[in-house]
Amino acid sequence: MADAADDPRGFPTASGTHVGRVRTENQDACTDVVHPRKAMRLLLTADGMGGHRGGSVAARLAVEAAGETFAAADAPSAELARRILDDANKRIFAVSQERAEVAGMGSTGVALLLAPRGRAWVAHVGDSRLYRLRGGALSRVTEDHSLVGELVRAGRITEDEARTHPRRNQLQRALGVGGTVQVALRELDYLPGDRYLICSDGMWGAIEEEEIARILGGRDPETAVRELIERSVYVDGSDNSTVQVAVVPGEAPPEAAAPGPRTTPSALSPRNLALGALALSLLLALLLLAL
Ligand code: MN
Repeated sequence: MADAADDPRGFPTASGTHVGRVRTENQDACTDVVHPRKAMRLLLTADGMGGHRGGSVAARLAVEAAGETFAAADAPSAELARRILDDANKRIFAVSQERAEVAGMGSTGVALLLAPRGRAWVAHVGDSRLYRLRGGALSRVTEDHSLVGELVRAGRITEDEARTHPRRNQLQRALGVGGTVQVALRELDYLPGDRYLICSDGMWGAIEEEEIARILGGRDPETAVRELIERSVYVDGSDNSTVQVAVVPGEAPPEAAAPGPRTTPSALSPRNLALGALALSLLLALLLLAL
């Protein structure tokens, strides 16, 4: 079956990035590329860190190395998704060793590799995120490699406390700070109607997930990206804000309408009929007693 949902090169997508209202330099970078020969697509967001332009250099190197690895690949795979970030790590680290002024630079990385027929992988390092909106429910696919992310997972602070924690920018893993990096990898099974959102902390740190879901679900990709960026810059604006959206064409199958039970219980289920009969018997018994 060859429909629109089979080839990710035709998926509606959009990307945007904004410097914010406080910083003078955008240290985020992103890319959305289709493969020149194969039916696959790569979306990647990188949020760089490091003084003396190191952050923007690191993010740019991540985009550049990832794009080259992707373009040279022959087939989509989990291994490719991991290698895209491994190569980004090596590239940033090599440059940081050569140029003293950007020593110690690093970057987050979220790479979404889309293949045909529902197959996709996400590789990530750091605290940029991938979200999925399916059947109106927003779920976070990635786990932040950050100090506050670990504290939240350990139940020691709440999500709200994490947003304002003094060490909220401290990452546990980043691309380019060492010769090797531990890449988190997940396989995804995408469905028609799914919406995927990649973003840097400048966006997710500013907007509640309820609002993210509302904007993501109700707009075309370009409008969703623009509104999410505008909203985050308006609400906070202290950081660079980057957003990428990819929509899987087609109608969501009914069973994808999460959350809630997979099957709607029928009013005429055997259980309900039994309860009805019981209620009727009790009513009759009461009536008889009253007489
Ligand atoms: Mn950031």
